[in-house]
Amino acid sequence: MSKDCLFCRILNKEVPAKIVYEDDRAIAFEDINPQAPTHILVVSRRHIAGLNDVGPEDAALLGHLQLVAAQLARDRRIAESGYRTVLNTGRGAGQSIFHIHLHLLGGRGMRWPPG
Ligand code: AMP
Ligand code: ZN
Repeated sequence: MSKDCLFCRILNKEVPAKIVYEDDRAIAFEDINPQAPTHILVVSRRHIAGLNDVGPEDAALLGHLQLVAAQLARDRRIAESGYRTVLNTGRGAGQSIFHIHLHLLGGRGMRWPPG
């Protein structure tokens, strides 16, 4: 828990969010500025700044975030049409919240490469 971290405050219910999933390791909520018809953030309960701050001991947690995203994609019926999970690392890649999270984006066509 970092008291200055927005996502820690959301997962402690100090800041409201549209929470769509919770378990002992992860929480998922709607992105406040959606970039696709489905845009959900899958967030580690443990405060980890980003992918530069994980080690082998975090492998299961990282896999779990992907599995939660895949389940949410099935729930939202975008699993067949296609979706994207994105983990931005560092400001140059667009990371703005330094608490590790996956974006689940779907419900529209996606281009490659991403900008
Ligand atoms: P990133 O830029 O990869 O760090 O992603 C941060 C995401 O958090 C952005 O897509 C923002 O729109 C989203 N975001 C920022 N503040 C909130 C909030 N209060 N509730 C939900 N999503 C938020
Ligand atoms: Zn945090």
